[in-house]
Amino acid sequence: MNKRELADLVRLNIEKMNSYSSARDQYNIKDTESIYLDANESPFENGVNRYPDNKHYELKTVLSKIKNVQESQIVFGNGMDEILDLIVRVFCDPSLDQIITLPPTYGMYNVIASTNNVENIEVPLNSDFSINVQKVLSKASEKTKIIFLCSPNNPTGNSFKYCDVLKLINEFDGIIVLDEAYIDFSSNNSLTGLINEHDNLIITQTLSKAYGMAGLRLGMGLSNKKIIDYINKIKPPYNINSLSEKKVLSELKNIQSVKKNIMIVLNEKLKLQTALVNLCFVEKVFNSDANFLLVKVDDVKLRCTQLLKNGIIVRDRSNDFLCENCLRITVGTPAQNRFLIKTLITI
Ligand SMILES: *Cc1c(COP(=O)(O)O)cnc(C)c1O
Repeated sequence: MNKRELADLVRLNIEKMNSYSSARDQYNIKDTESIYLDANESPFENGVNRYPDNKHYELKTVLSKIKNVQESQIVFGNGMDEILDLIVRVFCDPSLDQIITLPPTYGMYNVIASTNNVENIEVPLNSDFSINVQKVLSKASEKTKIIFLCSPNNPTGNSFKYCDVLKLINEFDGIIVLDEAYIDFSSNNSLTGLINEHDNLIITQTLSKAYGMAGLRLGMGLSNKKIIDYINKIKPPYNINSLSEKKVLSELKNIQSVKKNIMIVLNEKLKLQTALVNLCFVEKVFNSDANFLLVKVDDVKLRCTQLLKNGIIVRDRSNDFLCENCLRITVGTPAQNRFLIKTLITI
């Protein structure tokens, strides 16, 4: 099968446009001794009076090492959500193009599609939450620009089979976005290595979950340089604020603590799973490769209300496809989980 070239997948207006350029880009200045009179900033130093580095040099240096990719293969977003939106805007013409998503999955794909007036073709997962690869491929047309895959998937917690993901990458004539928000909790490795072999793959990751920095809003897209350059072309230049950048850089110096916290969460998840399985009102605890558990109960509204009365908030996912009477519980600290289990036993 002959696949479309990248330039044929990108929207024409994006292909043709020029991106925003600042004086500091044009002269490529990194010298802190210069007198900056180019950007109408306040000259009075208070730590944040200057615009942040729109090329994110330091962040790229550090995260390219951690993620084992080249600096030219990374783009940063104000959370992964911004990256997902930028990807849709690079490839999908409003009211013409389509994306494919595989519910039950992360709700923002649909929100982003709606915001951009892009049709979302939903191809539900099989009842065991695996991908119906043939069905997905059969729904794709020349209007279909992107397939969103989320592995480990939210809210189900499972990872997709490598072979299914690879088949879609190989056979879909368009862009595959693989959302790895929970990859650091997974027993499977990240598929970032595949961006060097497949020119239609974008992997998205975030510092919001395992890295513990949801409040800083730092997400990333990892792909080949050509795709990254298109996303950079339309990215708001100063989307990563300087305080976030600073805090991320200082937190990443202590990657051991991130790893330690992941181990604690995984260990707690097992304990929580065992406790949940033993409750009479729990019908099923789905296997999870992430930091949360999808739990099928007898009466989801009742159980959520009871937990809420005890000051515990969990997520009712019962409106999602295949998730009838299911709630999603994030693994907390050991003390929080002990309190949760104690509460569950008494309700
Ligand atoms: C939490 C989450 C995100 C959002 O990440 P941010 O970087 O916080 O925007 C993306 N995808 C999935 C599947 C998530 O669960």
